[in-house]
Amino acid sequence: MQVEVIPLMSPSPGTSRQLNVFRFGGSLPGPTIYLQAGLHADEWPGLLVLQHLLEQLEAIERRQELCGTVIVVPYANPVGMSQNLFGYVTGRFDMTGTGNFNRNYLDPYPEIKRLIEGKLTDNKIQNQHLIRAAFVEAVREWRVDDEVGFLKKTLLALSTEADVVLDLHCDDRTEAHLYGVKHQADECVALAACLGFSYVFLEDLEGIVAFDGAHLQFWHRLQLDYPEKPIGLPVFAVTLEYRGQIDVEDSLAQSDASRLLAYLRSLGVYKPDTNLETELVAGGLAPEAVRVSPLEAVDTVKASAAGLVVFSRALGSFVKAGERFAEIVQIDHPAPNRRIAVNAIADGYIVGLSHRRLVRPGDQIAKIAGATALPHRQLGNLLQL
Ligand SMILES: [Zn+2]
Repeated sequence: MQVEVIPLMSPSPGTSRQLNVFRFGGSLPGPTIYLQAGLHADEWPGLLVLQHLLEQLEAIERRQELCGTVIVVPYANPVGMSQNLFGYVTGRFDMTGTGNFNRNYLDPYPEIKRLIEGKLTDNKIQNQHLIRAAFVEAVREWRVDDEVGFLKKTLLALSTEADVVLDLHCDDRTEAHLYGVKHQADECVALAACLGFSYVFLEDLEGIVAFDGAHLQFWHRLQLDYPEKPIGLPVFAVTLEYRGQIDVEDSLAQSDASRLLAYLRSLGVYKPDTNLETELVAGGLAPEAVRVSPLEAVDTVKASAAGLVVFSRALGSFVKAGERFAEIVQIDHPAPNRRIAVNAIADGYIVGLSHRRLVRPGDQIAKIAGATALPHRQLGNLLQL
């Protein structure tokens, strides 16, 4: 196990922050896996999962069972974690104004395209080496001028050579689910089944992408640009949503870490002795039990008025189109206990419910995963992670 401490750019006199990076393996051939947690710095379950995973990886490496390389950034956003406002950590958006910590990564496509122009061959592996090297170069040349830019560049640079990128997040109060891309639907279902996640949401690779998509989108564009050249999509990148914000429990995190290890084993990253097998696969699902929704079929229900939201259906319930599952209590109405119904607009499972109960118009209060694309879920409104 190698531990690297990377100091970030000092944001103000007398202050500094750092990232810790753990590297395992590297001496035996195998894939490179990158994991990070807490990019949205108010999402903490993944932070505990990675602490358990680090401990297990250290033991595996000591037993010389690791093939390939595992890179772990156990807290990806010390900037956001420090944004404590009167006791509340506001870690989703940068308070200096650069936006969502999970957006605005480098789009390396123009630079990669420039670097590989005229160099692609009919050999897929050679093309992939060429494109990966250009990606590394593009990230190296990315000019950043503030602490958050430096943080984003550092995270991207640590993951440019990964074959698998796992970004650990969570939601308000949700069932475990993952976001992946439609081109990698089968891999997403296999991963979700292994992790015991019941839901998979699949996105396109167009438009604005998050940290995971920054590793995939340029491959997709190059495939479109050079249809006659074998390129492929050799990187698998997803966002894992480890339930709700308060689901920070050792028992959960311990089994989540074990299931991540089971996934790493399925990729050939490590080869355990057989005694561990049964323990490590416990808690997984059959692939058929994973519910897959295109992101256009996942309704993010917004409050239509100010008030207190109360839910009448539980997380995980199936609701029919038109069914009432919540109400907004208009506490400022002259008549007592006046309520506005909140109905599902399509059949689906309630995957997420807000834990904030005093809402204003436009606040997201629920997430319902259906099977059919919804007209109002157009590209550009998506990417809610
Ligand atoms: Zn998040």
